[in-house]
Amino acid sequence: MMDRKDILNNIRNIKEISVLIVGAGINGAGLYRELTLQGIPTILIDKHDFSSGASAASSRMIHGGLRYLENNEAQLVKESLMERNRLILNAAHYVKPLPTTIPIFSWFSGTLSALPKFFGRPTRNVGRGALIVKLGLSLYDFYTRKQRILPKHIFTSRKKALGKRPELNPGIIGTATYFDAWISYPERLCLELIKDSNLLEHNSLAINYMSLEKSSYDTVVVKDKTTGECLTLKPDIVVNATGAWIDLTNMALGKKSQFIGGTKGSHLVIDNKELIKATQGQMLFYENEDGRICILFPFQGKVLVGSTDIKIDNPEEAICHNDEVEYMLNAVKQIFPNIKISNSDVVFQFCGVRPLPNSNSDVTAQISRNHSIEIIPPSKANKYPIYSLVGGKWTTFRAFSEKTADDIFAILNVSRRMYTRDISIGGGKNFPKDMLERKKWIDKMHSQSGLSLGKLETLLERYGTEAEPVVAYMVKDNDQPLEFHKEYTCREIMYLVRNEYVVHLDDLILRRTTIALLGELTYSLLKEIGSIVGKLNNWSENTVEKEINRTVEILSHKHNLKLK
Ligand SMILES: Cc1cc2nc3c(=O)[nH]c(=O)nc-3n(C[C@H](O)[C@H](O)[C@H](O)COP(=O)(O)OP(=O)(O)OC[C@H]3O[C@@H](n4cnc5c(N)ncnc54)[C@H](O)[C@@H]3O)c2cc1C
Repeated sequence: MMDRKDILNNIRNIKEISVLIVGAGINGAGLYRELTLQGIPTILIDKHDFSSGASAASSRMIHGGLRYLENNEAQLVKESLMERNRLILNAAHYVKPLPTTIPIFSWFSGTLSALPKFFGRPTRNVGRGALIVKLGLSLYDFYTRKQRILPKHIFTSRKKALGKRPELNPGIIGTATYFDAWISYPERLCLELIKDSNLLEHNSLAINYMSLEKSSYDTVVVKDKTTGECLTLKPDIVVNATGAWIDLTNMALGKKSQFIGGTKGSHLVIDNKELIKATQGQMLFYENEDGRICILFPFQGKVLVGSTDIKIDNPEEAICHNDEVEYMLNAVKQIFPNIKISNSDVVFQFCGVRPLPNSNSDVTAQISRNHSIEIIPPSKANKYPIYSLVGGKWTTFRAFSEKTADDIFAILNVSRRMYTRDISIGGGKNFPKDMLERKKWIDKMHSQSGLSLGKLETLLERYGTEAEPVVAYMVKDNDQPLEFHKEYTCREIMYLVRNEYVVHLDDLILRRTTIALLGELTYSLLKEIGSIVGKLNNWSENTVEKEINRTVEILSHKHNLKLK
């Protein structure tokens, strides 16, 4: 594997390339895979880490988008359901089925307000009764009838529902349960797309901490954020996959655009035993009193609660404010009125900006979640066309990338060699399909490595079958659990640093692992990991200290987390 220095050297020498993709969130990474599979020389850059924008801040649902049916977006729901099913198969290590329960408080409400929306007149939804939920879930089942891999929905009477879930608000008239999916490590899956692509093609390169700065007629200037060095590239096509930053990026490319109308969304990670128990392993998909849909579901031993939806102009300013925390905690109270959740149960919070299409709708939930490609054609000012990837969902990244790639192939006059529809991603390759295969994998790895069965289970959950090289690296030399986090070992951390393009300490803490997300980070642990990374990268003591301070500052400012 090339390290960042080699990649940088290659970029210095390449200069002319077919496609420059700016932005390595899920849409940039998905397209990078499509293009490298075809052998098209491509450079993918991101001004921060890979998958550090909206792609790291989602609700972690891989879903059809039941709610979008209200906005008359049946086509989007169909496509999302298809892509959801593909991800369950192709990324089985991270994308897993999730039974989802909707508490229902009336029989018919929402039916009247749904009609004008169906005919394109936006109205705010308040109260979705049993009839409207039944209609939505029946459509969900209908759309997946030909490729059913998850069970159909069921309704449960009030008496039965409360018997099974005594914590639920007794005001319900019943519940409905259907299936969607969730993703455990979106940042890692995005990175895996890039790593898979890098194994394929040697004339394509992906690099983090490299920003697009400015452009001239046929060149683009990019800047290495770690050193300040500027490089000039000559692309045939520029793809602007910078999400909420799309208009700012077009500005740097000398073009004015108003494609994006971002809304910020916040989430909480809650450590509360009663709440975890009350989820019963399911997602709760419920309506707040203002009619907005909120969600909560068990997430790696904690509960993920979301979200808000607030218009925002500058994506750099997106942080979760206290009133959003209160909003989300109050919404939980409406379905579990007797579960006491205090602010100290919130172990992590995060916020990101949905790169939605520019819209003057007052009701943010009704802005389309569909994706589109906005093309700025070549002109006297720029030789290359600029493709801006607007909107979309995590769930639909592959379909969006496929469509964008097809447009690019048409311009470059190449024909497609293969589709990504059935290609497994990263540790999803040969992932055990059932308990028997899982046991076989664990027994095999146990006899090869001597690691305990429990440790191997953990590694399989974290990395899928990509745990194999991790295990091989761990047992190659003396290893020991971290002093301040027994679930990780020194060599596991070293493996991630060596093989996963870690530039800053926060890449490791926030995106290669879930240490911060799950509220497991302490100052002592940060120092311990900082010293391992420092030794491996030959950082001076001063650099280690700077990296620790940088992480502390990001956690404090962006996540309101004060380390103890
Ligand atoms: C709160 C919230 C909840 C969501 N929930 C879900 C969900 O449950 N399920 C679902 O399917 N989808 C969900 N989404 C939608 C989904 O996460 C996004 O649509 C998707 O991640 C967008 O990916 P992207 O690659 O277009 O943008 P991003 O992930 O934002 O990537 C853009 C990248 O561009 C980089 N960049 C910006 N400027 C420059 C520059 N000048 N030079 C180089 N790089 C630059 C940024 O650093 C960033 O990494 C949610 C989104 C949010 C915000």
